[in-house]
Amino acid sequence: MKDVLGREIKDLSEELWWTVKRKEIEWYPTINYEKCIGCGICFITCGGKKVFDWDIEKNRPIVARPFNCMVGCTTCKTLCPVDAILFPDKTFIRKLIKELNILQKAKERIEKAVSAQNG
Ligand code: SF4
Ligand code: SF4
Repeated sequence: MKDVLGREIKDLSEELWWTVKRKEIEWYPTINYEKCIGCGICFITCGGKKVFDWDIEKNRPIVARPFNCMVGCTTCKTLCPVDAILFPDKTFIRKLIKELNILQKAKERIEKAVSAQNG
């Protein structure tokens, strides 16, 4: 399956994010169509994950694959020239980090990699 730019589309919703299925984490953009001017920057920029499709008739992006969105990423929101993209507050991410004990897991992962390199 390809989007209107001819890019391959994959469903990443079953992949794991720190042991949790991505589709169980409510982190993704929503578009305020009252503000959106249809510039396409969000659609084109999210080229790796392909969260957006393009509605040809309305000339606007659609959040077609919300669970492809990288947890914690807000690039499209930052780039949107008219602030038409919304995300949950970062407290959502902080809570998730705590609940999944991610600080500890990250520490352990780096220590393991470093110790493997040091022999
Ligand atoms: S936040 Fe990042 S991964 Fe998610 S839709 Fe925007 S650009 Fe794509
Ligand atoms: S970057 Fe913003 S204005 Fe441009 S298409 Fe996306 S949501 Fe609409």
